[in-house]
Amino acid sequence: MLPLVALVGRPNVGKSTLFNALTRSRDALVHDAPGVTRDRNYGVCRLDPERPFVLVDTGGIAGQEEGLAGATAKQSRAAAEEADLVLFVVDGREGASALDDAILAWLRKRDRPVLLVVNKIDGIDVQTALNDFARYGFRDRIGVSSSHRTGLDALLADVLARLPEQGETQVLDDDPKRMRVAFIGRPNVGKSTLVNRLLGEERMIASEVPGTTRDSIAADLERDGRKYRLVDTAGIRRKSKVEEAVEKFSIVKTLQAIEECQVAVVMLDAGEGVTEQDASVLGAVLDAGRALVVAVNKWDGQSDYQRGQVEALLGRKLAFVAWAENVRISAKHGSGLRELFRAIHRAHASATKVFSTSEVTRAVEAACEANPPPVVRGHVPKLRFAHPGGENPPTFVVHGTRLKSLSATYQRYLENFFRKRFKLVGTPIRFVFKETE
Ligand code: GDP
Ligand code: GDP
Repeated sequence: MLPLVALVGRPNVGKSTLFNALTRSRDALVHDAPGVTRDRNYGVCRLDPERPFVLVDTGGIAGQEEGLAGATAKQSRAAAEEADLVLFVVDGREGASALDDAILAWLRKRDRPVLLVVNKIDGIDVQTALNDFARYGFRDRIGVSSSHRTGLDALLADVLARLPEQGETQVLDDDPKRMRVAFIGRPNVGKSTLVNRLLGEERMIASEVPGTTRDSIAADLERDGRKYRLVDTAGIRRKSKVEEAVEKFSIVKTLQAIEECQVAVVMLDAGEGVTEQDASVLGAVLDAGRALVVAVNKWDGQSDYQRGQVEALLGRKLAFVAWAENVRISAKHGSGLRELFRAIHRAHASATKVFSTSEVTRAVEAACEANPPPVVRGHVPKLRFAHPGGENPPTFVVHGTRLKSLSATYQRYLENFFRKRFKLVGTPIRFVFKETE
C-alpha cells in the first residue's frame, strides 16, 4: 500500500504550494489535459517514480477550530493521526509563531514521525531562517522554497528515507496471472452492491484476503474461468465507524487501490452525471497510468429521455479519457456485467500488450511519413527510432533530435496514431523522448 504523508501547518505557510510542487506530474501532457479535475487536498507524489506516496494537504490542526474550520480541523487531525509521516510546515520568513507552537504541541502528543520543513527560504538567509526554529528541537530542519521548487530533492530524499518500503502486496499474490481489478468511485455510486453481487454475499466474507498492511483487504473472484483479485475497495471492506465519520478520508484508500490494480473500474451514478469528485478520481487513474473502464451504474432507474441526456453528457465530460470504454450497468439487477467484464479484458489486454522494437520503430516512421513534425523556430524535430519501454501503461521510448521542440499537439497526434495502429483501448499510453547525438 502507498504510504501516507500529511502536510500540517498554520494557514499561509505554503502547504498548498508545496502540495502542488510535490504532486504535479512530470508529464505535462497528462497533467494539464483539459477536463481533468484534481483533488486539491489529496494527491500522489511521483517525483521518484519507483516510490510514490499519498500526500494530504491538511487545513488547520490547532487554534482555528470553529465553524467550517472545525470540520477541516477534524479531517486534518484524522490525516495526521493516520499518516506514516507528518511534514510540519513553517514559514521561514515570519519565523516561529504561537500558532506553530500550538500545532507542534498537538503533534508531540501523537505518536507519528514528524519532519520540520521550513518554507519560503527564497531570497533570505537560509541558516538564519532555520535557526529560528532550533528551539523546536528537531535534529533535521529542511529548508525549501515551494514556489521556486528549491530544496525539493533533499526533502524528497528525507521523506523517502523515513517511509516504509513497499511491494509486499504483489509478492503476496499466489497467482501472478490473476488480474488485479479495483472498483472505485465516490460514496453511494454502488460499489458494495456490485462487489457483493460479483462475489455473492457469503463468499465475500469467506474470501477476504487480509493483506500485509493494516486495513488492506482483497477478495479473489473466479468468473467464466478467469481469475481476478479485487484489490482494496470500499465495497469489500465493511465500513468502520471512523470511516463513515470521516468519509472524505476514503480518498486515500482510493488512491492506494488505484496504485495496486491493473484495471480501474470507475463507477458513476447515471442519475448524477459526472461530478467534480468523479472527475478527480478519473484524474488520479490517469496520473497513475492505469487501464480504465467507466461503469455507469443505476442505469435501471433512468427513463429513455434521461438516458439520452446522460449519454450526451458523458460524451462531453469524459472527453479527456475518450480512449476508455464506458459501459452501462445495473449493480442492483446485475445487468450489463458481461459487457463490463469484456471491456475490462480489452483494457487489460491493451495495457499489457507486448511490442517488438521493429514494429514500434515502423509505427514512428509511418506516423512521421503521414504527418511530419512541424518546424519549430527554424528547427525540425527528427524522430529516428523507437522501442517499447514498459507495460501498464504501454510506454514507447522515441529517440531522435530536437525532440524538446515537439509540440503538445504533435505528441497527441502520435498518441492517437499509435492507438489506432495497435488497436489500444482502455489504457493510457506514454511516450518518453530521448535525444540522440
Ligand atoms: P497554505 O495556506 O499553507 O496552503 O499556504 P499557500 O500555499 O496558500 O501559500 C500562502 C502564500 O505564500 C501564497 O501567497 C504563496 O504564493 C506564498 N508562498 C508559498 N510558498 C512560498 C515560497 O516558497 N516562497 C515564497 N516567497 N512565497 C511562498
Ligand atoms: P457504495 O457507497 O459505492 O458502496 O454504494 P452502495 O453499494 O452502498 O449503494 C448505494 C445505494 O445505491 C444503495 O441504496 C443501493 O441499493 C443503491 N444502488 C446500487 N446500485 C444500484 C443500481 O444499479 N440501481 C439502483 N437503482 N440503485 C442502486
